[in-house]
Amino acid sequence: MITEQEQDTRLKEKLKEVFGYSQFRGNQEAIINSILAEHNTFVIMPTGAGKSLCYQLPAVIKPGTAIVISPLIALMKNQVDQLNVLNVKAQFLNSTLSKAEMTKVKKDVLSGETKLLYVAPESLTKEENVAFLQKANISLVAIDEAHCISEWGHDFRPEYRKIKSIIDSLGNLPIIALTATATPKVQTDIQRNLQMEEAALFKSSFNRKNLYYEVRPKVDTKKQLIKYVKGHKGKSGIVYCLSRKKVEEIAELLAVNDVKALPYHAGLDPHVRMANQDAFLNEDVDVIVATIAFGMGIDKPDVRFVIHYDTPKSLEGYYQETGRAGRDGLEGNCVMFYSYDDIIKLDKFNKDKQVTERENAKHLLQEMASYAESSVCRRRQLLHYFGEQMHQDCGFCDNCVKPREKFQAQEDVMLAIQAALQTNQRFDITHLSDVLRGLENQYVISYGHNRLPIYGKGAHREGPYWSTLIRQILLYDFLEKDIENYGVLRVSEKGIHFMENPYPVTLSKDHDFSNAEAEDEEDRDGNTPAHGKACDPVLFEMLKTLQRKVAKERKLPPYAVFQEPSLEEMATTYPTTREDLAHVNGVGMGKVEKFGRPFIELISKYVKDNDIATATEVVVKSTANKSKAKIHIIQQIDRKVDLEDIAEAQDLNMADLIREIEHICYAGTRLNLDYYIEGIMDEERQDEIYDYFMTAETDNIQIALRELGDDYSEEELRLIRVKFLSEVAN
Ligand code: ADP
Ligand code: ZN
Repeated sequence: MITEQEQDTRLKEKLKEVFGYSQFRGNQEAIINSILAEHNTFVIMPTGAGKSLCYQLPAVIKPGTAIVISPLIALMKNQVDQLNVLNVKAQFLNSTLSKAEMTKVKKDVLSGETKLLYVAPESLTKEENVAFLQKANISLVAIDEAHCISEWGHDFRPEYRKIKSIIDSLGNLPIIALTATATPKVQTDIQRNLQMEEAALFKSSFNRKNLYYEVRPKVDTKKQLIKYVKGHKGKSGIVYCLSRKKVEEIAELLAVNDVKALPYHAGLDPHVRMANQDAFLNEDVDVIVATIAFGMGIDKPDVRFVIHYDTPKSLEGYYQETGRAGRDGLEGNCVMFYSYDDIIKLDKFNKDKQVTERENAKHLLQEMASYAESSVCRRRQLLHYFGEQMHQDCGFCDNCVKPREKFQAQEDVMLAIQAALQTNQRFDITHLSDVLRGLENQYVISYGHNRLPIYGKGAHREGPYWSTLIRQILLYDFLEKDIENYGVLRVSEKGIHFMENPYPVTLSKDHDFSNAEAEDEEDRDGNTPAHGKACDPVLFEMLKTLQRKVAKERKLPPYAVFQEPSLEEMATTYPTTREDLAHVNGVGMGKVEKFGRPFIELISKYVKDNDIATATEVVVKSTANKSKAKIHIIQQIDRKVDLEDIAEAQDLNMADLIREIEHICYAGTRLNLDYYIEGIMDEERQDEIYDYFMTAETDNIQIALRELGDDYSEEELRLIRVKFLSEVAN
């Protein structure tokens, strides 16, 4: 017999020897002792708190092989690699192995050499694998990401439900189940499914004190995003988007705005995906734009911000993803963009699912929507969602920091509690709210709730008033959720006390997100300058004056300096560097070289004088780059290929090709068409048109045609206009 103290010392020695750590964290030691004592053990611990060690260390200590069930093959490989580096023999069994590899793994396990065997649930359920495991000496079974067992979890995996019967067929083995997200509902589900209601439960607080939570309306999201990311220059961040397409688009948007950013999603070539992930981990790029496929098993400690560009599907997922910020305990900012349109869109995605699954998904979405719209302390809401009560607001979230509109609710809290009591504590928020409002829908009538004294007592309140109120008093513990029946609310002890001895209660009004809209999916056309609304009229006039002045000095028509739409864009985006100016539509580096300086000086001074400090940081530069076709045309012209041949190769007629050429030219690229023009016109004709453009008020072709009479074809005029602009303007 060894004493408890000796056991403690031994564990610490092993911790140091194998993993190199000198202290256990949080509950780790108690958890390890529990599983070593062969107790079934249930661990709920936030991401990054150190769950893996809780089964890895016992696996090393106990004779035989520990089975680790893990849902993600990528994650498995990571863990196995890490353990092998520590000289702990670990292997995995999944569908990626060849036959020979499989045989080797089985041999090592049977010989007792392997300390940890990672298995995907799909492989575990295969008969031949079960037969093999029955022959092996198994020390314990760890079930990682145990929330996958529950239909109420955000990533339910049906195969997880078969785990228990298979474990039973392997003998009487101690089980350790671990998860980073478990609402009370999910928790009971896991325990029930694994038949481990009696298990030792270790639940750590989910509070991540260093994370700042913020929800913003999804309005002008691109601008907000760029401004935010630029405001955190040089810091690591993750931007989550819902679709692969969005990921690509946003990564590109950031890149053209001089943010070092790369995309990550399951549709990328695996090499590219790995390279992008590595670039982020090695800090070659600051920002990774990703679908939620990114982040599992990534433990970069210094991620400073996690942005949800789209509203996430569930609070569990959201919390898990935000959990990747500030793992080192330092700064971590979590910003979510919210619009109810996103919720509707997500709900539509669920329409092909089975009924119960769809209903569950809907509930999760509703929780998400009320979290976002509520003006109650975010942390309080999140922790409550995971079954933790906070007794005061955190002071460190957007709702705590910004003033919100409050109201006195003592009377109404009383009414809501009465509604729950009079309906025998068997209904959900929607129903209670319907009864209070005196609605006559089929449920209210069929239960006879229209005959209750409380019926219609709250009819003077409008819209979602009652559901907002009920949600809040649920957070403040006047009501509580019935775990067995999803959504059903009961009156808590605190609620009963309140009924007996009422006191003033202050609640806060929801935010109004009705101005937030799902964004236009279409890219803005890169050729369309930022017309109108955002343009600064004062600066625009100053730029126009400067344009005319410069034109006069250079003896050029004003439009040859900068076209008006370009000036308008400058008065919108305030470019103050050569690079920024070159990003304006219609302005290439050539133009910047030729005419840029006085314009940059003017804008810089204007920005400084008017204190437009952040303006250049929020420029939403278009991601519409030169298309392949345009690049091809430019290359062919450089090689002096006949325009007819280019047109034919591009499957264009001549007029279309000239239009493309004009686009290229007006975007600021210089083209030398002399080789072609010389072949179709003599010098005299060329000069005449050239001189016309030199002195014209405008470069409009129709006007030119009128002025020059019938002697010239439109094609000739257009070509000379390109020549002229290329020579004097670009
Ligand atoms: P989780 O699975 O809970 O998200 P991990 O098991 O991946 O977390 O652990 C997170 C990080 O904490 C890892 O880098 C791990 O090596 C480290 N860690 C775990 N336990 C300890 C400890 N006792 N002392 C120091 N670091 C630890
Ligand atoms: Zn707060």
